[in-house]
Amino acid sequence: MSTSSRRGAGRFAPSPTSDLHLGNLRTALLAWLFARADGLDFIVRLEDLDRARVAAAPGVADRQLRDLEAIGLDWDGPVVRQSERLDLYRDATAGLDGYECFCTRREIAEASSAPHAGRRPYPGTCANLSEEERRVRRRTRPPAFRVWAGGAVQQAWDRFAGTVSAEVDDFVLWRNDGAPAYNLAVVVDDMVQGVTQVTRGADLLDSAPRQAWLTERLGGRAPQYAHVGLVVNARGERLAKRDGAVTLTELEASGMDARRVFWLLCDSCGLPRAESPRALLGMLAGDAGRLTDPALAQQWVAPVPAAP
Ligand code: GLU
Repeated sequence: MSTSSRRGAGRFAPSPTSDLHLGNLRTALLAWLFARADGLDFIVRLEDLDRARVAAAPGVADRQLRDLEAIGLDWDGPVVRQSERLDLYRDATAGLDGYECFCTRREIAEASSAPHAGRRPYPGTCANLSEEERRVRRRTRPPAFRVWAGGAVQQAWDRFAGTVSAEVDDFVLWRNDGAPAYNLAVVVDDMVQGVTQVTRGADLLDSAPRQAWLTERLGGRAPQYAHVGLVVNARGERLAKRDGAVTLTELEASGMDARRVFWLLCDSCGLPRAESPRALLGMLAGDAGRLTDPALAQQWVAPVPAAP
């Protein structure tokens, strides 16, 4: 697969299914700062493959872009929407070995002995079905398509966590509703867009080895990752809409303008309050170590009142 030959890029890749909250804005600010401080381009990509959830959230994509601009972030090149790039994902998988999978989520959960809930490694249940077994199963359930990873062990490098290593499971490339899966689309886009630095929330750290592996399988070089701390409410739960004024629109309605929201994000990162992200970058020149502070990978408790 051909990749962009630019100097490299960082990116922020929101899903336009709900307005950006303080956690998303903080991740976006850090992604922008890391990229700009390293002299990289900065790209914004709308990950809108979940058509039903996107359709149920009209206007969100435009508001996300407006909110990024309002706190002073800019980006290079056009904003890319994954829904317009299905051919790219199809072409990328043409050369990959894989197999049809008929498992339900529940079957995978029951068959897996993984200790943590959430993203469980796939136990390979459908790897060895015969053609006849597949034919029979296709009658009752459309298959997903999984890549054959062959138990590969893959390393990825994270700015805060250092080297992370994991066995790559046979993860889904195509969902059984015909849509490309997150791990496929994100890898193909990062490659095609010349992304060399991936900044996102710490909840995706365990996806890094499989994405690095797929990047290399497709002939690319894995990006450097920067998984930053999630933002939580006073009870230590992941910040959510019900927590009160958490989006820029809501914060503005409660009397806090975009610059104050930017300052709040600066405070949360232990960075000085500057006039703008651009001015902050200037203040940090020669002191880039502040952007590798391990505290940036820790949770930040947002100062919004907890829901009753
Ligand atoms: N679109 C994903 C999200 O909004 C982020 C994926 C990524 O950055 O790799 O959570």
